[in-house]
Amino acid sequence: MSSTGYVALALGGWLMGTALGAQTCGQEWLVRYLAARDTRLEDRLARQQERLDSAMEASGGTFAPRAGVVIPVVFHVVWRTPEENLSDEVILALLEAMNRDFAGQNEDLWRVPEVFRSRIASGGIQFCLAGQDPSGNPSIGIIRVRTDWKEVGLSEALYHTQAGGSDARDPERYLNIWIADTGEFICGFGTYPGLVPVERQGIVVDPDCLRPAGQSGKVRHRTLVHEAGHYLGLRHVWEDNEDCTTDDGVADTPLQQHPYYGCPTHPQSSCGSDDMFMNFMDYVDDSCMVMFSRGQMERMCMSVELFRPRLGTGVEVCLAPSGQWQKRRPFEVFPNPAKGWIVLSFEDRSVVAGVLQLFDASGRCVWRRKGAWGGALRIDLPELSPGVYVITWNETARLLVVAGD
Ligand SMILES: [Zn+2]
Repeated sequence: MSSTGYVALALGGWLMGTALGAQTCGQEWLVRYLAARDTRLEDRLARQQERLDSAMEASGGTFAPRAGVVIPVVFHVVWRTPEENLSDEVILALLEAMNRDFAGQNEDLWRVPEVFRSRIASGGIQFCLAGQDPSGNPSIGIIRVRTDWKEVGLSEALYHTQAGGSDARDPERYLNIWIADTGEFICGFGTYPGLVPVERQGIVVDPDCLRPAGQSGKVRHRTLVHEAGHYLGLRHVWEDNEDCTTDDGVADTPLQQHPYYGCPTHPQSSCGSDDMFMNFMDYVDDSCMVMFSRGQMERMCMSVELFRPRLGTGVEVCLAPSGQWQKRRPFEVFPNPAKGWIVLSFEDRSVVAGVLQLFDASGRCVWRRKGAWGGALRIDLPELSPGVYVITWNETARLLVVAGD
């Protein structure tokens, strides 16, 4: 099958029915595209949503997710032009911002009107970078592939290293995120559990929708957050139907008739109630979507339990961009970013023997020391080029960013 044959042809018809001024979420398009080729797909998705609904109902609102689901992520940067090849620093910033949003710790929560404040989700799911490659060597979970395909993000080739894309890492245990050109109309898509074959499960995002823009210089990470919501089983808050009879299956998001664009002011009403348009699962601007509801977070956690039970079970080596939410913290590194020297602070005050190693982004060991430590240890770093490194202490690992001048 040719690369463009996979999906690009289906775009035209879908766009005609959509009021699009800019790039947006491709979820509806993907479902329609796939459903036209697989007559049983819609039935299957409906059954899955029913399973999720009845599991939520059975829990009676008391569902307690596994304490802290931390999902290991592998980023595949499949780039054609240099601007598409987002740097390690940008990707780390994206992941940190995503974690703040999922933890309800984003600084723009002031946009949530009083009436919805008590519904803000405050934790349940977090993300970290895969800390090992498939052979067990240290890695930072970012794979880079140069491709010749234009709009590779909409192509079959994306999922095959041999065809100029990048093979998924075990999708039952990792969330695969492909950063790849998806053309001028789509910002990305996240696949509901069961929507696509296992090797295509994950998230695809156009780098144009993530790159820092404007004066702030901050990364724009909300496409990732929105698509992660789909990947974890969430539907749009208006649920793709404008007659007020369909619901997103979440009790604490009000019934809504249509999506919102831009940055509306509260209140906006439809279907007889005020709309939660500042929700991550609406279509407003990045800077104006700021919350998941508690019900949505419960649904995402339940969807992991039901459909992706091996995700986030904690057996993978995981690198946290910021360590605050991690349960097990045998050591911390500071300052981070660092230059010239670092201090390792060990949780265990008693002295423990082991090996400290430092690996560069390609997995090459650049520094190694054997010894016994407890408390704190200052290390003078060797001459290192700026970038992202992994520092390991026996079985655990941390990310270290080495700053430039
Ligand atoms: Zn969407």
